[in-house]
Amino acid sequence: MFESRINLKSEAEIALMREAGRLNAQTLEAVKAEIRPGVSTGELNEVAESFQRAHGVYSPFKNYDPGNGVPFPGSICTSINEEMVHGIPGKRKLQEGDIISVDCGTVYEGFVGDSAFTVGVGEISSEAQRLIDVTKKALEIATALMVPGNRSGDVGSAIETYVEAQGFRCTHTYTGHGVGRAMHESPQLTNYGVPGQGFLLREGMTIAIEPMVLVGTRRTKTLRNLWTVVSVDGSLTAHQENTIAVTKEGPLVLTSL
Ligand code: MG
Ligand code: MG
Repeated sequence: MFESRINLKSEAEIALMREAGRLNAQTLEAVKAEIRPGVSTGELNEVAESFQRAHGVYSPFKNYDPGNGVPFPGSICTSINEEMVHGIPGKRKLQEGDIISVDCGTVYEGFVGDSAFTVGVGEISSEAQRLIDVTKKALEIATALMVPGNRSGDVGSAIETYVEAQGFRCTHTYTGHGVGRAMHESPQLTNYGVPGQGFLLREGMTIAIEPMVLVGTRRTKTLRNLWTVVSVDGSLTAHQENTIAVTKEGPLVLTSL
């Protein structure tokens, strides 16, 4: 799944990845605009596919086969409440009070953009809102550290230290990752770490940072559909992701609008 070599990108390649990322952000905005009680996750998937078709791009999620024999059937992942990541879009309708993570990828000119957000459906509990806010803030904190000379442990440690100080937990099982011509490239970026350890951040690295935060236990399991990852205790989870380029000018968020 992960190539062992780290592909450093040229400025021209980063410019293409910025376009892939922008289109991915636009796809997610189109989906976000349709999130309300009563809409099905399959309908949200259709919104993403229509947008991408109209813009001549596609999602690398569709038919993605990590070797489990079940290619992913959607263009987005829709993960509701205790579902942390990799939820399969389908007939399930959103209900008032749910929280949903939508993860999407876009391939443009051979390069991938990968990002995700979590939002509430209608009115949500104050704990659910705090979970979402903490997850977003964890991504912001991590993003600021994506500069040449820092190490991956600085980033992972900052994510987990902040999340735990807020009374929540980070997954230790699922990670961020390099992004480029492949959706998943080396290296992996964990949501925990030791400052000063791990791989050195270098100019030209393009990495998806994705804090996955849980209210209860950090332990997760995969459902029998071989995709959907849920918290084992059924507690709420949230997920936020951007693809970032490490540049000499500082962190460049490739997946912003
Ligand atoms: Mg993603
Ligand atoms: Mg990712």
